Amino acid sequence: MPAAVADIVADPAALAELVDDAVVWASQHGLLVGAGLSEPACAAVHAPLALLPVPYPRETFLRAQRAALAFNSMINAVAQDETYLQNVLAAAAQEDEFTARLLRVYEETAKERHARAGTDAVLAVLRSDYMLHTPTNSLLQVELNTIASSFGCLSTLVARMHRYLMGRAGVSPAQVAALPEHNAMDSIVDAMGAAAADYGVQGGVMVMVVQPGERNSYDQQWLQTRLWERHGVRTLRRSLAQLAADGRLSEGGRLEVSGHPVAVVYFRAGYTPDDYPSEAEWAARVLVEQCDAYKCPTVAFQLAGAKKIQQDLARPGVVERYAASAEDAALLRGFFAGQWALEDLSEPDTAAVVADAVANPERYVLKPQREGGGNNFYGAELRQRLQQGGGGLAAYILMQRIQPPVQPAIMVRGGKAVQADTLSELGVYSTYVRRGDRVLLSAEAGHLVRTKSADSNEGGVAAGFAVLDSPMLV
Ligand code: ADP
Ligand code: MG
Ligand code: MG
Repeated sequence: MPAAVADIVADPAALAELVDDAVVWASQHGLLVGAGLSEPACAAVHAPLALLPVPYPRETFLRAQRAALAFNSMINAVAQDETYLQNVLAAAAQEDEFTARLLRVYEETAKERHARAGTDAVLAVLRSDYMLHTPTNSLLQVELNTIASSFGCLSTLVARMHRYLMGRAGVSPAQVAALPEHNAMDSIVDAMGAAAADYGVQGGVMVMVVQPGERNSYDQQWLQTRLWERHGVRTLRRSLAQLAADGRLSEGGRLEVSGHPVAVVYFRAGYTPDDYPSEAEWAARVLVEQCDAYKCPTVAFQLAGAKKIQQDLARPGVVERYAASAEDAALLRGFFAGQWALEDLSEPDTAAVVADAVANPERYVLKPQREGGGNNFYGAELRQRLQQGGGGLAAYILMQRIQPPVQPAIMVRGGKAVQADTLSELGVYSTYVRRGDRVLLSAEAGHLVRTKSADSNEGGVAAGFAVLDSPMLV
């Protein structure tokens, strides 16, 4: 921590002033989340924040940035391999209804997909998440998100806020320069704009598929505003149920929503079974998959982001098949933590790792095929689930528990600051636009740090455990 900042943190009055500055800056610049379901739609509160950026090793950070393009082309290759997706997900789908249903949508729309091969329209906004693993001093991937990668806009604003606060605190320009600049907000919007331009229909809109009652709507609405300002593309926000009622597929495969031609469909919903309470929502998903608009993501990309696929890619020789080059493969493999399938519990290697996890549950995480946080098993629950055994475990993967360094941080929520011991997770965004074989854009697109208290297993920002943060390179 720079000396000027350390002085402020040590002085309660100065600290309270800096917290005030942070909260006011956040309100003035739209670094906001919804205040809660019972409030009017416009009611907002500043997003949960780390008051100061977290020190992060420079070389490691740069390596994660460099991996963005390699992940883009690797995951695109995976998403295009139908047989691979189906084979790897088959056992999980037998035990998990949601995975099975997504695979069914994939199979039901094969006709349209095959007819459109060569002109299919793919938009990806990925976020590869990492944690530092202290025992080996390496950076390991937590997961690669291929659907609803959130916080691109709020993370852009947090980085700006930290620059402002560090300047105000009196740190030197050289130290402020250690805060890496990025603009995930506009980078993501520019990928959406490129997709809409390539779709090439006058008045073509982006449909943002959202969850009813979303609290993180300001992060989404920033994309809408900037997409309009930078590219003149209008956004329609629709739930899957509304899309089912309001979407029409024309003869040629064009989707129209409320009478507007749709150039891009961007999902900020649809990643959890809760988003599909009835057949209507599934019908909407099929409708989107059948249409000729850019989809972010296609069902194939969503499937390629499954935990089960991540685990399979880590097996010897697999990521090497999908990476664009041997160099890319080596770079990507370097981020892979230990991961194990649980399909055949009698297989000796599986039996051995399960026995070890039962004896030492703190060294592992048990993950189902789910997104959105709060679904994993840890500690005693993990042990219990493994001991329970059964075929249902085929829908889980076992993962080495990453052990990031514990660092002190000041977390600000609802205007109140709390000091805590914390762990941080780095996310690197990347964007990808492809039409058939033509890659229109593949770019690293900014970053995010989420910091959570060291005693919480998972750290959802929306769930109230984590705060938005940014790195200070050291
Ligand atoms: P989701 O798709 O639900 O976000 P994640 O794999 O990101 O699933 O898991 C959620 C959270 O659990 C992560 O943000 C991280 O805090 C924690 N976590 C996941 N995997 C690991 C791991 N291997 N080691 C340590 N923590 C993990
Ligand atoms: Mg995820
Ligand atoms: Mg995650």
